Amino acid sequence: MNQGLLSVDEALARLLAEAKPVAEVEEVPTLEATNRILARAQRSTMDVPPMDNSAMDGYAVSTRDSSRLKVAQKIMAGSVGKPLEKGTAARIFTGAPIPSGADAVVMQEHCEVQGNEVLLKKTPTPGEWIRRVGSDVKKGAEILPAGKRLLPQDTGLAASVGIKALPVFRKVRLGLFFTGDELVMPGEALAPGRIYNSNRFTLRGLGELFGCELRDYGIVPDSLEATREVLRRAAAECDLIVTSGGVSVGDADYVKPAVEAEGKLLMWRIAMKPGRPLAFGSVKKAFFIGLPGNPVSSFVTFLIFVRPFLLRTQGLNAVQPTGIAARADFDWLEPDPRREFLRVKWNAQGGLDLYPTQDSAVLTSTSWAHGLVDNPAAQAIHKGDTVRFLPYSELYR
Ligand code: AMP
Ligand code: MG
Repeated sequence: MNQGLLSVDEALARLLAEAKPVAEVEEVPTLEATNRILARAQRSTMDVPPMDNSAMDGYAVSTRDSSRLKVAQKIMAGSVGKPLEKGTAARIFTGAPIPSGADAVVMQEHCEVQGNEVLLKKTPTPGEWIRRVGSDVKKGAEILPAGKRLLPQDTGLAASVGIKALPVFRKVRLGLFFTGDELVMPGEALAPGRIYNSNRFTLRGLGELFGCELRDYGIVPDSLEATREVLRRAAAECDLIVTSGGVSVGDADYVKPAVEAEGKLLMWRIAMKPGRPLAFGSVKKAFFIGLPGNPVSSFVTFLIFVRPFLLRTQGLNAVQPTGIAARADFDWLEPDPRREFLRVKWNAQGGLDLYPTQDSAVLTSTSWAHGLVDNPAAQAIHKGDTVRFLPYSELYR
């Protein structure tokens, strides 16, 4: 049934075999590094916290001392106290350094203040409510690996050890254009037979989400010369060119001959639904991936093929989604002989619901969904079955 079709995994393997991380590394302020890809592993040159400090508002004491102590000093976060003398406690606040001689903090809820004395109503154990020096990060430890997309908490972690700038791969330059004489932009009159260029919004949004430097060449007319011209321009400016439409074998499909004329092209008919035709090639130093025009197909093939290729080009290590095992709360009794990516949504019972139409022209399904079920070829799904779920939350990173 699938003869002549390439499997998704085989197509992915061929794509990833070609992808190479961009070589250029740039230093960016840690404050601006979120969503960039770290080019070199980062180590800490210090302990965090840099000193023993209090985890609570309370009283720093020696556990060898008595339970009635004179409050001899007050230590706020950011200041340093004096050594604790026998028979005394230090009033201490969260984050303040533990004075020498103290080995525990008694939280203020367990203390009774009587004049200038404090009565400990709970016997402290050594180390209680003290954050130890280096308990978060040890000096010399690796805090961030190379090839990681920096999340906000990663830049926070780098900052916590005093790193003010980070080496990141330069942004991938992603070129986009959209073929089809039927396409118009929202805001323009929709003449009979025309449709809005929705793929421009979807694919551009994906490119932005993945932190690319975008070059949007807009709508390209269905003509060989126009397509060749934009390809030449894009190839000079981009690392990767992604297009939608024009890769079928219809009369108006000029992307294929244009890429063949300007560079190299492989046409793959992929055993997947949606999204059978996929074109992969290169024009000069730029790679080229031609996605189908159908809105759902271009969205899904972007996530399944462009995403891993792009992430590898960006310098990321992990490019394949793990997926999670989830319960199908629907029947899918007439599966396609090709591997399918079904639009589904979590329900309140923790299972997955299926969008009622899985047609590749129904963009509503992608907006309604929380992700895709990766269903093997020709596999029926019965209510209660475990399926492989690829949530957008995983596909969007
Ligand atoms: P094609 O791959 O060019 O044959 O297009 C397949 C289908 O997708 C046709 O119905 C096109 O009208 C539609 N289509 C192509 N490009 C876009 C686009 N940029 N936005 C929305 N629909 C599109
Ligand atoms: Mg077309």
